[in-house]
Amino acid sequence: MQYVSTRAAASAAASSSQQFSDILLGGLAADGGLFLPADYPQVTGAELDAWRQLSYADLAFEILKKFATDIPEADLRALTAKTYTKEVYKNVRAGEKASQITPLRVLEEEGGKKLVLQALSNGPTLAFKDMAMQLLGNLFEYALAKQSAQLNIFGATSGDTGSAAEYAMRGKKGIRVFMLSPHKKMSAFQTAQMFSLQDPNIFNIAIEGVFDDAQDMVKAVSNDLEFKAKQKIGTVNSINWARVVAQVVYYFRGYLAATTSNEQKVSFTVPSGNFGNICAGHIARMMGLPISKLVAATNENDVLDEFFRTGVYRVRKSAETYHTSSPSMDISKASNFERFIYDLVGRDSERTRALFHKVETQGGFDLSGKPGSDGDEFKLVAKYGFKSGKSTHEDRLNTIRDVADDYGIVIDTHTADGIKVAKENLENGVTMIVLETALAAKFNETILDALGEDAERPEGFENIEDLPQKFVVMKPDVEVMKAYIAANTGL
Ligand SMILES: *Cc1c(COP(=O)(O)O)cnc(C)c1O
Repeated sequence: MQYVSTRAAASAAASSSQQFSDILLGGLAADGGLFLPADYPQVTGAELDAWRQLSYADLAFEILKKFATDIPEADLRALTAKTYTKEVYKNVRAGEKASQITPLRVLEEEGGKKLVLQALSNGPTLAFKDMAMQLLGNLFEYALAKQSAQLNIFGATSGDTGSAAEYAMRGKKGIRVFMLSPHKKMSAFQTAQMFSLQDPNIFNIAIEGVFDDAQDMVKAVSNDLEFKAKQKIGTVNSINWARVVAQVVYYFRGYLAATTSNEQKVSFTVPSGNFGNICAGHIARMMGLPISKLVAATNENDVLDEFFRTGVYRVRKSAETYHTSSPSMDISKASNFERFIYDLVGRDSERTRALFHKVETQGGFDLSGKPGSDGDEFKLVAKYGFKSGKSTHEDRLNTIRDVADDYGIVIDTHTADGIKVAKENLENGVTMIVLETALAAKFNETILDALGEDAERPEGFENIEDLPQKFVVMKPDVEVMKAYIAANTGL
């Protein structure tokens, strides 16, 4: 399986194509594009039938081996078996089986309409990012051991990504994590989750400032290419291709668990921010999974909803990006969106490059086909099954209340955005699966507002705020940051 950049000139594409292992540890392609397979591997009906019996780990192996053809199959099987265990994904609700890894729960079935919740947040940090990040930790350790190399992961987080990365990389040989977060700006739960890690390879750095200050530090350090190379700096952000592939697996799993025959179709509603999760759904559909609709649910930061309604992609400025009660979807631009646009414009890398150049210089593009627009490909969006919707703080509170009353479970704020939008997109005869992207305990402040009581905490999380914390506080000073990294890597 060869990978190409969404921006590679056609002449360069053939010669510059790379294998899975080549792009595993990297981020953007050298030309600024994102990596995608040269062709999407196809799944046959016979394969789908056979996969109905498989455990999650075995299913993950079958799908991954189509993308990671350069990793020996026995190694890949060992990696997926080690990753997807009931011990790692143990934070299930009463009545659900941890061995299913992503258990499904029917919320409503009326007439031909059916609404189902797929739990993706039973991993160590109680958010769906564990689904991919846990595999990434094992893949990184495997790849680094082969090259006797080391990697220093450097990033900034406002909550979910940083903790998922730390729990995936803790104790891994050859890997250190330097994670910046805005000092005293995360929830008490999120702070405790990250800072209570005592592993010597995890470095929590609380920056005196807001998230953007932390993010600016990451950019400044990463722009120093010499330092970056010497210190073996890498990232695990949402454009990482292996993360996207790992997410493809649960779309297959959700489909297989919700259907009895390959004649049936399902739809998915996905609480969306950077378009990483739903991009994996798009890839599953391109591989032949019988998906009817892929519905992107956004919060007040509705960049994606605007595109899927109008064909206009308009990134937001920092001042226009709202801090909401579903904070992991508070994005100003969707960093994986280029992968879908590349397919939408017929895999034309010249056009993709021009469109995203326009995003960088003019803040967006317009594919509505109206006079003066940049193209008319918006008319093709329906062919790819995409729909969208938006949910506000008020909707979120109401949905959390309704779901508690009607179905007897407490959902988190991001999942609430998903349920709200899913209900607007139910179709007769097509099961709608909503992806549960976090557990309520992570966003207790809003649960308390909605229900007047605390969200239940999974076992073992009862007193995490009381655990000893390990972190350093730093002013946003790039030189101090670099010295701190160098001192701790010894490189
Ligand atoms: C990251 C995250 C999202 C958004 O996922 P994308 O892949 O960025 O679209 C939604 N909900 C939760 C809880 C998250 O942590």
